Amino acid sequence: MIMDKYAVIGNPIAHSMSPLIHRQFAEQTGQELSYEKILSPLEHFSETVQDFIRSGGMGCNVTLPFKEQAFQLATRHSEDAELAGAVNTLSCEEEGIFGDNTDGEGLINDLKYHQVPLTKARVLLIGAGGAARGVLLPLLRAGVDALHIANRTPSKAQDLEKLVFKKGNVSASGLDNKWSQPFDIIINASSSGLSGERPDISSEIIGQETYVYDMVYGQQQTPFNQWAEQQGAVKVIDGLGMLVEQAALSFSIWRGVMPDTQSVRQALRNNLSA
Ligand code: NDP
Repeated sequence: MIMDKYAVIGNPIAHSMSPLIHRQFAEQTGQELSYEKILSPLEHFSETVQDFIRSGGMGCNVTLPFKEQAFQLATRHSEDAELAGAVNTLSCEEEGIFGDNTDGEGLINDLKYHQVPLTKARVLLIGAGGAARGVLLPLLRAGVDALHIANRTPSKAQDLEKLVFKKGNVSASGLDNKWSQPFDIIINASSSGLSGERPDISSEIIGQETYVYDMVYGQQQTPFNQWAEQQGAVKVIDGLGMLVEQAALSFSIWRGVMPDTQSVRQALRNNLSA
C-alpha cells in the first residue's frame, strides 16, 4: 500500500521525537501515513524539501536551524508564520507550498491544558529568539492584559516589541529591569536551560500565584523551573506539552483532524525517563 508521506527535517535530527508523536496520532485517528526523520545538509535545505516533495511528500515539519529558510521557501503563509518570520509546518498545495507556525498556538494549548489563566494576565516573556517571536501574537490573541519581553541583549527584546506594539500592551527591557510586582505568568523562551543555566533575573518577578513555563524540556527539571519552585511559584511546567501540542496542530493542518494529546504526552514522558 502507498501511504501518505510526511517528515521532520532538521540538522541535527537524530533525537527528534516528532516521528514517535505523529505515528501515535496516526494510529489513534486511524490514518494511513508514514512519518520519517530527514537530516538536511546545512547548505541544502531547499533541495532537501524539493526532493522530499518529488518523492511524494505531502507535508513536513521543520526544526532547527531551518525555520527561517522554510519561511523563505513557502509561497503562502499563515498570519502566525508571517509575524514569526519562521515556519515549522510546510504543506504541499496545488499552487505551491503553504507555511504555518504552530509553535505559538501549541504553547497556548499547553497553558490551557495546565489550566493557566491567560485572560487579563500580566505576562513576562524571557528571551527574544525565534521561539519568543513565534509566541507573541498567540499570547496577545489569548487575551493577556500586558506582555513584557525581557532579554539578555535588550535591543533584541525591543525589536520584538516593535513587531507587535500596535496589537496590545507590550513593553521590553533587559533582564536587569526594576520589577514593580510579580507577574501572573512567566514564560522562559530563552535557550539557557540547554546549557544547564537559567536567565540571570531577580526573584522579584515571582510571587505565590505566579505560573512559570520553561520551553525547554528533558529528563530533569530545568534550572529555571527548579529556581522558580524555590522562589514559591504556584506551578512550574516544562515544554514537553508544547512539543506535543504544536505537533497536533501540524497534524490537523495536514489531515483535517485534531488528535488527542493526553496519551501522547504520557508516552513521551515515559520515553524521556526510560
Ligand atoms: P534562539 O537561539 O533563537 O534564541 C535564544 C534566546 O535565548 C536568546 O534570546 C538568547 O539571548 C537567550 N539566551 C541564551 N542563553 C541565555 C542565558 N544563559 N541567559 C539568558 N538568556 C539566554 O533559540 P530559540 O528561540 O529558537 O529557542 C529557545 C528555546 O526554546 C530553545 O531551548 C528551544 O529548545 C526551545 N523551544 C521549545 C519548543 C517546544 O516545543 N517545547 C519549541 C521551540 C523552541 P541573547 O539574545 O542575549 O543571545
